[in-house]
Amino acid sequence: MTTSPLIYPFTDLPPAGQRFKVAEGVFWLRFPLPFALDHINLWLLEDNHGWVIVDTGLGVRRSREIWQQLLAEQLDGKPVTRVIVTHYHPDHLGMAGWLQQQCDVPVIMSRGEWQLATSICNASDAQTIERFKGFLGSHGLQGEDLAKVAGKGNGFRRVVMPLPERPEFVGEGDMLTINGERWQVYIGRGHAPEHLCLYRSTDRVLLSGDQVLPTISSNLMVRPTEPDANPVTAFVDSLTVIRDALPEDTLVLPAHGLPFRGLRTRINVLLDHHAEQLDQVQAACRDQPHSAHDVLPVMFKRTLDVQQMMFAMGESIAHLNCLLEQGRVQREDRDGIWHFAA
Ligand SMILES: [Zn+2]
Repeated sequence: MTTSPLIYPFTDLPPAGQRFKVAEGVFWLRFPLPFALDHINLWLLEDNHGWVIVDTGLGVRRSREIWQQLLAEQLDGKPVTRVIVTHYHPDHLGMAGWLQQQCDVPVIMSRGEWQLATSICNASDAQTIERFKGFLGSHGLQGEDLAKVAGKGNGFRRVVMPLPERPEFVGEGDMLTINGERWQVYIGRGHAPEHLCLYRSTDRVLLSGDQVLPTISSNLMVRPTEPDANPVTAFVDSLTVIRDALPEDTLVLPAHGLPFRGLRTRINVLLDHHAEQLDQVQAACRDQPHSAHDVLPVMFKRTLDVQQMMFAMGESIAHLNCLLEQGRVQREDRDGIWHFAA
């Protein structure tokens, strides 16, 4: 398969605590993350006499320190007017409640993201451990690996508190007016239930969050509270809508990696990637029945740390659920572990 390469118009990274202009009224902020994925991009949008913040960083002390510096030094003395959260993951949502309290502003997100964030936060450590143990165990993760992956309790709650209060909900097709210009909401699915992407057609700028990333494919994970979910089909379908609606030369501002042009090219690569993974997983299940745990080396060639193991299991179950829904595999309970055969 040949694809034209993406174009990266900005290759100098903004230092933590400083803004960098990437489009009219749109500024790039880069925050560190204490993971293998070591940063997140957030965005500052000029809004008449103030600023809109898009995504907020992981809810940890380092993010708070950077925000304190930014609020003091990088906003030209103008107030924050709104905070927009693309989706519920803690590197995006984590500081939203703190920013809301500091700046006394509304938080805008989708209803689906809010509901999932709330329900995850409401689970105790013990409930979370029990759910993940039962779920990942039934998909073949056993012994020490299961104890490590499931045994961390409710890690989510520790890096998003406080949740924002009374968010304002927006959904597919809604328009947000920022600085007198219209940004259209596109909803991405699969990586998160109702992920907000915002598109300004006047100069073709897309705030894509984690829905479209330039160099990595977004994690698609099945969660224990919805064990039969099929996020792969949801991801593919919602990306296809975005690909067919928006032009190739859109300036894509992703949450990880560099801003780029080549939206349709990138989405086609992502769609091909998942089609290929589905084919490989199905082929493995044709040789002999596989659990989601058995499928890991088929999908992931690298060794996985504890956090990556959780994402990898979620992703493996996601692809098996997709094949199951498409009728390409059957599922059978063997001694309490789901096995999939093609
Ligand atoms: Zn995410």
